[in-house]
Amino acid sequence: MSYTKADIRRICKEENIRYIRMMFTDMMGSLKNVEIPVTRLEDCLDNQVMFDGSSIEGFVRIYEADMYLHPDLDTFLVLSWENTAYGKVARFICDVYQPSENGEHVPFEGDPRGILKRNIEKMRKLGYKAFNCGVEPEFFLFKLNGEGNPTLEFNDTGSYFDLAPVDSAEDCRRDIVLELQKIGFTIEAAHHEVATGQHEINFKFDSAVEVCDQVQTFKLVVKNIARRHGLHATFMPKPVEGIAGSGMHVNCSLLTMDDKNAFYDPNTKNQLSEVAEKWISGIIHHAKGFCLITNPIVNSYKRIVPGYEAPCYISWSNANRSTMIRIPAARGNKTRTEVRSVDGSANPYLAIAAILAAGLDGVEGNVPLVSPVDENLFDLDDEGRKALGVESLPSDLNEAIKEFKKDTLIQEAMGSHTVKKLLEAKTIEWNAYHKFVTNWEIKRYINKY
Ligand code: GLU
Ligand code: MG
Ligand code: MG
Repeated sequence: MSYTKADIRRICKEENIRYIRMMFTDMMGSLKNVEIPVTRLEDCLDNQVMFDGSSIEGFVRIYEADMYLHPDLDTFLVLSWENTAYGKVARFICDVYQPSENGEHVPFEGDPRGILKRNIEKMRKLGYKAFNCGVEPEFFLFKLNGEGNPTLEFNDTGSYFDLAPVDSAEDCRRDIVLELQKIGFTIEAAHHEVATGQHEINFKFDSAVEVCDQVQTFKLVVKNIARRHGLHATFMPKPVEGIAGSGMHVNCSLLTMDDKNAFYDPNTKNQLSEVAEKWISGIIHHAKGFCLITNPIVNSYKRIVPGYEAPCYISWSNANRSTMIRIPAARGNKTRTEVRSVDGSANPYLAIAAILAAGLDGVEGNVPLVSPVDENLFDLDDEGRKALGVESLPSDLNEAIKEFKKDTLIQEAMGSHTVKKLLEAKTIEWNAYHKFVTNWEIKRYINKY
């Protein structure tokens, strides 16, 4: 939707809006907000709503904490699922700004939405109009305990594409879909995923910033509606050992200035353009380097292991699900590359910015072209994969940190502020995990030694 200030004033009146949530995303991908009463609407529309950025993960130091939220008017939304006992609540997704020395507002370099916008700007300079993305978020539903905390107990015994009554979570999933439709999502499909308790809901692709905004809204709706059903929804990549984890595959394509899909060429053998093959090669080349962004938590690395349809080897293919980049069968303006390594713990703005930067590096011709691999990589041993030139994704967060430190292009795409803050936070996270004695170790060793 496209709104003017006058539209917003009118809707707030008509709908009797009482509160406005000014939303933004921190470095870790969590959606945050400052809530204002609607009496401050003019301040909000004049970009005058301030907040203290010092306690936001990855933001600023204590002595430069004043930040401004600039609402993106087109993201205005009445939050249909919120309790209206105190009046209706609406929201904006905001860009984060800082005051400069002369008092002017300048974009805050650590704002994930701003980071994505900077990378899109670079893409435009290379002659592309839009970076279109379609995401496939998977999530688990678990029962809540008496105190309202999540358990690891499922509320269904279903599997891939199962129907009720096996899938008793179906009501919840339908409710989620209805709520999403109410607020303007175009839902393409919803289904039970492979694992017990696991689901997927797909919505229509959009250009990169819009799709990231939608991912953040989507997660909020899924979590809130699940609560209504006494369930906890989690996008954690691998909540249960021994069954499939949850990914958030990202389908991407570039649009040329004359609205053509840059990845489609009817005259090649696989109908993929040279741009597509260069793009894919860029992603393959930087896959290890951006893993810290697309798979940012300790638990991410428990998902990308053999046996669960999640990739662990870096390659591409036209259909093979064992590869990190799959090319779905559709061609023409639907031609796209599906990056399957990404999981739902990633900050969508940063993950999509990293993929874009990697792909564009390929498009610019800075990396060697990589051929597709049609073998099932899980059937081969290390030697076999090596012979095909196929490398593995980092096996833990520590390796991902090391790879990120080596990849200057991905670092540049994130900006020095985020690189520094991210490395600090992720090193602390890894060190905390590394020292932790797990139940697995106790079970395995306590009697033996
Ligand atoms: N759950 C799998 C993953 O972790 C993906 C399954 C699918 O192909 O949809 O990526
Ligand atoms: Mg899936
Ligand atoms: Mg997929």
